Amino acid sequence: MKEIRIENLHFRIGAKEILHGITADLPADRFVALLGPNGCGKSTLLKHLYRVHRVQEGQILMDGTPIAEIPLRAAAQEIGVMGQFHSVDFDFTVEEIALMGRAPYKESFEDDTAADRALVRAALERVGMADAAKRSFNELSGGEQQRVMLARCLVQEPRLLILDEPTNHLDIKYQLHILALVKGLGIGVIAALHDLNLAAMYADLLVVMKNGRIEHIGTPQEIITENMLESVYGVRANVAYDAAGLPLVDYRTEQLP
Ligand code: ADP
Ligand code: MG
Repeated sequence: MKEIRIENLHFRIGAKEILHGITADLPADRFVALLGPNGCGKSTLLKHLYRVHRVQEGQILMDGTPIAEIPLRAAAQEIGVMGQFHSVDFDFTVEEIALMGRAPYKESFEDDTAADRALVRAALERVGMADAAKRSFNELSGGEQQRVMLARCLVQEPRLLILDEPTNHLDIKYQLHILALVKGLGIGVIAALHDLNLAAMYADLLVVMKNGRIEHIGTPQEIITENMLESVYGVRANVAYDAAGLPLVDYRTEQLP
């Protein structure tokens, strides 16, 4: 997939409109970070891309095809998803969860192959969870669960990864580890992120939302400015630039009242 075109997307739940006409062309083969304060609509927009929400008004085209016309199985082979909340009802082990990444390629009741199990081992290695393969998923910490869910995405071998706050339970070592890993896959990524400095380090394009609208789209240098921090997040901060020209946000200034 090359491009996702979103045209005038509105979304309502009951009487409440949550997305107020989103229009954007997003590359599906780069790293796109979706930013914005809590409740601005990031998860709602991502849920449209991974088809938890149906398009009510406006449209979403993936390489020119309206999203609803793409067969779910084809979409599941192409797009890997790591949502915001993970809970599994049964007592699956870590390797069983990771193996579920092969489901889009299987007929029902088709057995797992040695190749599937090799993919699982390699993916658990890459996220640093190989030693936990036999453990129960539900006993893991939030951060460990996040790494296993990413392994499941890797096992799926998607062309595009959609990640909703993929690092929110992770300590800084694994935040860096996971974002570098994802970036190193060389596939498309659309990720809702909170940390602006990490977004600037890893994303090619930043999309900033506020109150159900897209406010800004551009490169980290274009987007991360003192004005944007104040108008979108309501915080006062200094933006400096590192040797490579990447913006670095410094919040250690007096806040607005
Ligand atoms: P973000 O991911 O940017 O924090 P969300 O997309 O989760 O924001 O939510 C956007 C807005 O939509 C919020 O005001 C939220 O309360 C509301 N919202 C999301 N899902 C529902 C729902 N199922 N029912 C009612 N309101 C919802
Ligand atoms: Mg969210």
